[in-house]
Amino acid sequence: MADIQLERVTKLFKQVRAVDDVSLEIGDGEFVVLLGPSGCGKTTLLRSIAGLEQIDGGRIRIGGREVTDLPPRKRKIAMVFQSYAVFPHMTVFENIAFGLRMGKTPKAEVTRRTEEAAALLRITELLGRYPSQTSGGQRQRIAVARAIVMEPQVLLMDEPLSNLDALLRLEMRAELKRLLGEIGSTVVYVTHDQVEALSMGDRIAIMNAGRLIQVGAPLEVYDGPADRFVGGFIGDPPMNFLAATPERRDGKIVARIGGAGEVHADGGAGGLEALVGKEVVLGVRAENIEVVEASKADGLLRGRTLVVEPLGSHNLVTLDVDGQVLKATTRPDMMPKRDAEVGLRIDASRIRWLDPDTGRALAAGE
Ligand code: ATP
Repeated sequence: MADIQLERVTKLFKQVRAVDDVSLEIGDGEFVVLLGPSGCGKTTLLRSIAGLEQIDGGRIRIGGREVTDLPPRKRKIAMVFQSYAVFPHMTVFENIAFGLRMGKTPKAEVTRRTEEAAALLRITELLGRYPSQTSGGQRQRIAVARAIVMEPQVLLMDEPLSNLDALLRLEMRAELKRLLGEIGSTVVYVTHDQVEALSMGDRIAIMNAGRLIQVGAPLEVYDGPADRFVGGFIGDPPMNFLAATPERRDGKIVARIGGAGEVHADGGAGGLEALVGKEVVLGVRAENIEVVEASKADGLLRGRTLVVEPLGSHNLVTLDVDGQVLKATTRPDMMPKRDAEVGLRIDASRIRWLDPDTGRALAAGE
């Protein structure tokens, strides 16, 4: 078993709480992505798990064993960090094979596994070269190959694909995910790329200013962000936020969006009852807003198109909704004119209602 338990982990750099009271349980074989903006503490948390940072508070267990005070080499982990150090005096083959040879793996198996890892990372043709004869992106892949060839129980990775161009990165993330799934490694993977996080993680742990804000499966955090920060950080475009005022109408709750109209607030909107007449924040994803022609917009929210961006698979429409800006996606053939009045149908069940002061989601019945 190689589960990881973080219990109230805190790491200070003088006044900075780089990691602030983080508790997280990562299951055996699970792939957890640490996601967050630059400086939020992802790398520091990963380095703390690795033992490269001494933590100031809390405990860390790996495979049920307390490792809080153990040095990195005794924690039974493999790591790939942003500053991927490869041995300059060894060929690429020797670099990748190094760990296996140290472990006295039979020669034929060393060759087979090294070649397999190299093929997966598309660096087969580099096996005979020295690292100085490779590019930064290739060196990064050598470092990844060197770690995965060991089939580690626990693998810690910090932005391992950051130096690759967009296309290669796209291919690598799928292959890396497949391979690590096959090996069954427990993976903690740091990235600030939310698409990479959504596509690779079994669960995503989102951090901000040293704190863990939300942990959940990709769709859980995408559809149900715990707060405005998560909704705004995950998704492209980010979640829309509109100021809204809940009102009671014929026994139902509706939310008025200034003079643009109102949306029904049924389904998961229990917390709104208590906020009738006050201001709340309506969070909604671009794809959950349907743009309809003004002539069919009876009873719908009204908006005016500011920009229409054709993106091939869909169009992205930026709208003015009584002074508030909203982005909606439409089918490629639904191409509203610029500066046109349109109706907006918002799927009430897909709305996330947020407290305007704390930014946190209102739980149903709150
Ligand atoms: P990035 O995506 O930019 O790498 P990150 O989320 O990984 O960011 P960390 O590198 O963990 O963030 O840094 C968290 C905070 O701790 C930052 O405010 C950073 O300036 C600070 N910090 C990190 N390492 C040190 C250090 N060795 N000494 C002092 N402060 C540090």
